[in-house]
Amino acid sequence: MKKFNNFIAGKWVAPESGEYFDNRNPADRGDVIGRFPLSDKRDVERAVESATRGFARWRRTPAPGRGDVLRVVGDIMTKRKEEIADAMTREMGKPLTETRGDVQEGIDTAYYASSEGRRLFGKTVPSELRNKWAMSYRRPIGIAGLICPFNFPMAIPTWKMFPALVCGNAVIFKPAEDVPHTGTLLVEILLDAGLPPEVIQLVHGRGEQVGAAMVDHPGIPLISFTGSTETGRIVGETCGRLHKRLSLEMGGKNAQIVMDDADLDLALEGALWGAFGTTGQRCTATSRLILQKKIHDKFLGMLEDRARALKLGDGRKKGTDVGPLINEDALRKVEAYVDIGVSEGAKLLTGGERPKKLSGGNFFEPTIFTDVKAGSRLEQEEIFGPVLSVIRVKDADEAFAVNNDVKYGLSSSIYTRDVNTAFRALNELDNGITYVNAPTIGAEAHLPFGGVKQTGNGHREGGWEVYEFYSETKVGYADFSGTLQRAQIDTYLGTPD
Ligand code: NAD
Repeated sequence: MKKFNNFIAGKWVAPESGEYFDNRNPADRGDVIGRFPLSDKRDVERAVESATRGFARWRRTPAPGRGDVLRVVGDIMTKRKEEIADAMTREMGKPLTETRGDVQEGIDTAYYASSEGRRLFGKTVPSELRNKWAMSYRRPIGIAGLICPFNFPMAIPTWKMFPALVCGNAVIFKPAEDVPHTGTLLVEILLDAGLPPEVIQLVHGRGEQVGAAMVDHPGIPLISFTGSTETGRIVGETCGRLHKRLSLEMGGKNAQIVMDDADLDLALEGALWGAFGTTGQRCTATSRLILQKKIHDKFLGMLEDRARALKLGDGRKKGTDVGPLINEDALRKVEAYVDIGVSEGAKLLTGGERPKKLSGGNFFEPTIFTDVKAGSRLEQEEIFGPVLSVIRVKDADEAFAVNNDVKYGLSSSIYTRDVNTAFRALNELDNGITYVNAPTIGAEAHLPFGGVKQTGNGHREGGWEVYEFYSETKVGYADFSGTLQRAQIDTYLGTPD
């Protein structure tokens, strides 16, 4: 059985504990991909020592040079795309079409980051005093601690890591324990592209040990976390106490609204992809379907037929539409929510069980509940599985109110042919992202990604905005007048010469 290691201080090394865990294929639990380190605080300690040296060197590398490394990373990822996608499907389960997309997002993020190395704009503005310049510019922060979820094993680490690196920070990367292999491949690629070894550290292991040790370590001034709202709360409390810079991207309960005037065939494709793509394990997955009353019954009929026809199976086999859930805990959580839905009086239209045939993996049938009451637990809580709750509404106002009445605020979608309703939705829906005539999923690397309310803490991944998070703005004044000029005293705006 292949043993994988941490990457600390420029070397692939065993964890201090000497212990390892099995990484299993969720489509076939008997298939062990490899054994990965169960690291602890001591490994994090060593990673911080090394990253401190890496940072001292990397922060002085000109930003365009840092960007050049990311360009090579993009080139290598492009060449290895198919192989990485295959490895990712084996450890995470989603079908190859989706893991190829996951790698492609990493490639797009690499090229975008590479070009930012030649910008990283500050501002030069006129000073209020003569013969004096005033400017703002960006500096790196230090060591960035990156804690990642399982559902986008390549894309999400790259969203964090590439801008962190271009801004001149060193990185300590902790992948989710269910997807350590893809994380290892990513670090290999960075090293092959010429990243100085001490600039990147990879520490595998459990969140409660490795993640918590990173959050608690005074030598890591910045934490970027993506995961559940519950874990994010724990991370946030510690970071608040230690005054750390913190980005949180957390849970969602996203809705697709279908109005009476919508193109129903288009809305149907959106609902199927949004609800059951990635087996419902996307932060932007469509968990609620809000249907206007006239099309409600007709649309449900169309949806039921297509949901029943979705093919469950191994994501590496041709023809598979829906892969497994990530692990047994996730299966149990989905089952618990099916029970909750039934006990709350919602009607189970289809699904609701583990399929009899695929008992070797963590499979669950695409599940649809109808007559779901707004405010019920099924309608309010994040399930993170292939469970869609359908809510009937009378008009756009009620649809907007139902969409907004949850504690999360990541993405939303509306299908309508009425331009006024579409623009009202863009104004009224309380989410970080709203799609018109498209499903709740589909982020692009050059736009900011993130949510409001308990989905996030005001930062964004992607787009230009993330570069603000990974750099500190500093201001420089240069006075070449040769005299003491006192701001606000010797001159002020509006005084003629
Ligand atoms: P999770 O919260 O269980 O784990 C996320 C990461 O945190 C893992 O690496 C884990 O090891 C680590 N961790 C666990 N306990 C920790 C602790 N005490 N201290 C520090 N780190 C700790 O989440 P998950 O199951 O991997 O991912 C699913 C969740 O992520 C869902 O809630 C989903 O909505 C969310 N998510 C959000 C976004 C977004 O951008 N908003 C994107 C993807 C996933």
